Amino acid sequence: MTDTTIGIVGLGLIGGSLGLDLRAQGLRVLGVAQRLATAHQARDRGAVDEAGTELARLAPAGIIFICTPIPAIAPTVAQLAPHLAPETVITDVGSVKQPVLTAIAPLWPNFVGGHPMAGTTAQGIAAAQRQLFANAPYVLTPTPTTPATSVARVAAIVRRLGARLYTCSASEHDRAVAWISHLPLFASAALIAACEGEPDGSVLTLARQLASSGFRDTSRVGGGNPDLGTAIARSNRQELLRALGRYRDTLEDLIAQLEAEDWPALEQWLQETATGRSRYLPPETETACGPR
Ligand code: NAP
Repeated sequence: MTDTTIGIVGLGLIGGSLGLDLRAQGLRVLGVAQRLATAHQARDRGAVDEAGTELARLAPAGIIFICTPIPAIAPTVAQLAPHLAPETVITDVGSVKQPVLTAIAPLWPNFVGGHPMAGTTAQGIAAAQRQLFANAPYVLTPTPTTPATSVARVAAIVRRLGARLYTCSASEHDRAVAWISHLPLFASAALIAACEGEPDGSVLTLARQLASSGFRDTSRVGGGNPDLGTAIARSNRQELLRALGRYRDTLEDLIAQLEAEDWPALEQWLQETATGRSRYLPPETETACGPR
């Protein structure tokens, strides 16, 4: 068992993309899919050296990435554990961290929560691509009991992907991603739903015909994988509700400004949002939001 052999469970967009990059780095990648057809497709695409549907095949791996949908992460760890040596590090890529960590804590002490902040609206092995994680943030969420050596081993792999490494607690992660990932997803979905609610059929048809770059940018994340969106809402419900509530308040303030025709206040507000946006594009450096 060595860290030059990596296991991946779940060979979809994220797991497949991980496999493509890790193999390109010269690492040996063993994969496990739910369906045999996916395992074969992953091998044909060059995302894995070997793949099948039995978790036991991952026994030789030093580090195993769980890249299944969020509800399957903890059950997968429970089924995997009997096949592994205690030194094996398990990590995951789930978009929400606190419930995953809570469920896995009694199952595998050598677990390091992780979340690559990269993706597309497509899904499945066919959507996997090289360099998906390059220059993207990749968050690790160790707890006070996570072995430091295990964090360092996962961090070494993350660096090989060319990602920007961050560490923070699971609760900090879930609150922060509610703002920059989960709220945008649902605000974008709500935008599409609101447009689709236009009662005048000919206006609706015209709007669909005129949609261009502005609509493409703002609707993209709302038009993605429905299973992933639902899993995110279920597992980060509290933080999503908190962010959506603040967003609703902001929309109400905006409506009040428009009703009052307070154009100087509106322009001032738009100047602040234009400046604020640039604060969400950090320099491409390795940063930690807290030593853990
Ligand atoms: P995806 O493209 O739908 O891939 C998920 C894969 O998991 C499918 O190929 C499916 O395999 C497999 N799977 C499902 N249940 C399984 C099980 N019990 N055992 C083994 N394999 C199983 O989804 P994804 O976008 O890669 O998301 C995977 C994880 O990445 C999620 O936890 C998500 O939160 C996280 N994530 C996603 C994004 C994003 O933008 N998409 C970004 C960051 C993190 P079969 O084809 O064999 O059924």
